[in-house]
Amino acid sequence: MAFCTDRNYYKNLYWDDTTSLPNRKALFIELEKQTNTGLPFHFIVCSINRFKTVNRWYGYEVSDQILHSFATLFQKYFTEDVFIARLGGDEFGIITYQSHEEINLILFELLEYISLQQSKHKSHFTITLSCGMSEYLTDTKEVSELVDYAYLALEERKTNQRSSVQSFKKMKTTNTLLELQVEKEFPSMLSKKEAYLVYQPIIDVTTHKIVHFEALLRWNNVNLGMISPATFIPIAEQNGFIHEITEYLIIQVIQDLLVLNKDHNYKVTLNISVQQLHNDKLYKLLTFALLKGIKPHWMGIEIIETETLVHSKKAIEQLNKIHHLGIEIAIDDYGAGYTSLSYLTRFPVSTLKIDRSLIIQIEDPSVISVLKGLLLSCNEIGQKIVAEGVETKKQFTLLHALGIHYVQGYLFSRPLTLEPLVELVKQQ
Ligand code: C2E
Ligand code: CA
Ligand code: CA
Repeated sequence: MAFCTDRNYYKNLYWDDTTSLPNRKALFIELEKQTNTGLPFHFIVCSINRFKTVNRWYGYEVSDQILHSFATLFQKYFTEDVFIARLGGDEFGIITYQSHEEINLILFELLEYISLQQSKHKSHFTITLSCGMSEYLTDTKEVSELVDYAYLALEERKTNQRSSVQSFKKMKTTNTLLELQVEKEFPSMLSKKEAYLVYQPIIDVTTHKIVHFEALLRWNNVNLGMISPATFIPIAEQNGFIHEITEYLIIQVIQDLLVLNKDHNYKVTLNISVQQLHNDKLYKLLTFALLKGIKPHWMGIEIIETETLVHSKKAIEQLNKIHHLGIEIAIDDYGAGYTSLSYLTRFPVSTLKIDRSLIIQIEDPSVISVLKGLLLSCNEIGQKIVAEGVETKKQFTLLHALGIHYVQGYLFSRPLTLEPLVELVKQQ
């Protein structure tokens, strides 16, 4: 019987040579160890999207370089006390005591950096990262479950191909009984006239005047009560009901705009799901609105940039067609996830809406520097920036000092139904 007594052999058992990081085995040992602290921590699993394709087209040498650069980047961006391991393939695992918000910001900056590097070096392929996250104690006390949950969240993120990071907690709440109940109640939303629209003003930071409104859907269901669009829109996107919702939305906005803009020229922006750009229906509805007397500059659309959008020729073609109608396009929830500055030049985008999650952290110097950089680029190409979810005077003052163009949030007004809205406009 031969025994191996080579110390390096055992060292290699816990080590990944390609990235010079600890490996999966080491990560599991570390996870077990951390549970002894009794403190909550996050476990993140990150996977490089389309890594297999890169591997196939460019070979192992390039793939290994990419893995190595990611290892270096993770180490550069996660500066706090953190444990980073290569789990195998295109996957990395991270253990950190940082908060959800801090992690989101780090990953946002990291993705921003990757995308800028790629556009600078005119890379032939686009590399993005999806991450899933779970929290020890909050989600589970079992290490194996903690890992499973992070993977489940990652899977969800990969299918949605949206935000850079998905937390397990959020997923849990959308996969409950409520989802089934909501689905069952959809037919009564439009047929029983349970849906209605509210409009939230968007204010010019320097003049304090309303520049336009965002249309937001409300649903007061007879059995379930008020249901947030943040709950029902994702379900409607999955089961296809979103097309009927958007048809309702546009028809209602046409009626309301004809009232609101009797003596004005306000723009109302509509939230549009990316999947509605995969066929002509939306374009036809917008053309219909123009035929009904709506001026093109009275309407805008807001879309959340996703990987699907960026890589879908059909969607980009639809966006260009809508732009040619004279309808402006805004990128929604900027900073919350996937969005990357370098992609913005690929669409005819006029406005960037900065997500509330960044505005909440506006006092953080790294957020300020992200916003400064963003403003520089936007000003250069004539794009406007709207800060979303502005709730405090302090946030407003900082945004004003930065030179952000527009703000939206409870500090100025909650979303309003048409009647109070018309009254508000009269006071302007
Ligand atoms: P969103 O497009 O990011 O809309 C902004 C959300 O932030 C709205 O929530 C708004 O009420 C809320 N909000 C505005 N100011 C503040 C603030 O100062 N503080 C806080 N905490 N929240 C603020 P709402 O209306 O619940 O909508 C949630 C999401 O649902 C929207 O996010 C949008 O993605 C989606 N949505 C709403 N209406 C529609 C629609 O007609 N079609 C589609 N596809 N999606 C919609
Ligand atoms: Ca929006
Ligand atoms: Ca938004």
